[in-house]
Amino acid sequence: MGATVRVKSLVKEIPINQIRRPLPRQNDPAKVAALMESIQQIGQQEPIDVLEVDGQYYGFSGCHRYEACQRLGKETILCNVRKAPRSVLQRHLA
Ligand code: ADP
Repeated sequence: MGATVRVKSLVKEIPINQIRRPLPRQNDPAKVAALMESIQQIGQQEPIDVLEVDGQYYGFSGCHRYEACQRLGKETILCNVRKAPRSVLQRHLA
């Protein structure tokens, strides 16, 4: 039997303005527009991934969903939250 790796993560709604996005990323406006329409119709089907470091949330991916939800005027976004030490954040920023 192999070792079990437990990754502590939890899906929850987080206020959009509490999520820091440290890396600027170029979004495809057509993707954002299509996601806005879909999210409005059927809701956000897949959470974005965020890191929680010292009580702050950092998002590195899901940038199209983030922008779509923001432009729809939503106050919260569904996130898969993983708690991480600051060293993991530094690694993402390197
Ligand atoms: P992102 O930068 O947000 O990852 P992509 O265009 O690369 O954007 O991928 C879109 C993602 O959004 C997919 O993983 C898809 O499962 C997810 N998703 C969540 N909610 C919806 C929705 N309502 N309609 C379409 N895709 C959705």
